[in-house]
Parts: sequence; structure tokens; C-alpha cells
Amino acid sequence: MSYIERSEQLKREISDRLADLVQIVRDVKNAPGGGRRHWVFAHPCGCVYGVLDAGDAGGSEADRAVAWASYYEGASPAGFAMMARGATLTLADHDYYLEHFAPQLDSAWRCPHKGGAG
Ligand SMILES: [Zn+2]
Repeated sequence: MSYIERSEQLKREISDRLADLVQIVRDVKNAPGGGRRHWVFAHPCGCVYGVLDAGDAGGSEADRAVAWASYYEGASPAGFAMMARGATLTLADHDYYLEHFAPQLDSAWRCPHKGGAG
């Protein structure tokens, strides 16, 4: 095989490989939420005040306790005060989070609930 032929063959192989990689990226982007999930912290009225990446947490009581603790950096009085006031913690997939919760984290969000804490 001549140098030119070898060079052309390498170009084809690289081009095929790049096409594979592009397809993989597209598949990941098209997967619902890319498999990402979030812990969503909300005031008693339902307005969201915080979010954490949930990783591969399963939503068990132990997972929830870890989420509370990591959001409040351990057993912070602020965290327990929020829990005592009825704050809620929800495990949401990325698409649900984007549609229902993310807008509430915008600084322009105003609590629409009468007497809400949000
Ligand atoms: Zn509210």
C-alpha cells in the first residue's frame, strides 16, 4: 500500500470513528434528562428554595437524610428549622425538575401561595 493509499484509509477510519462518537453524544443528549436526578427542597407552600444533584440516590429515608445533611452541611440548626417548619424534599428526574421546579429558582420568582413562606 502506498503512502497516499494508507493516508486515505486512515482518514476514512477516523471519519467513521468520529461519526460513532457524534452518535453517542446525541444518544446521551436525547436520553430523558441524561439520567440525571435532583433533590428539590421546597418551602411548606411548595415553592422551591434549593436543589442538589441526587447522583444515584434511591429516595430511601437514609438517602433523604444524606441529602438534608449535605444541603445544610451537616446537622445545621438552619436545616432542622426548615424541616420543622414543614419544608419538603423531592427526588425529581432532570426533565421534571426543569419543567416544574427550575423556574422557581429564578430570582424573579414570586410565591403565588397566600401566606406561603416562599
Ligand atoms: Zn409558594
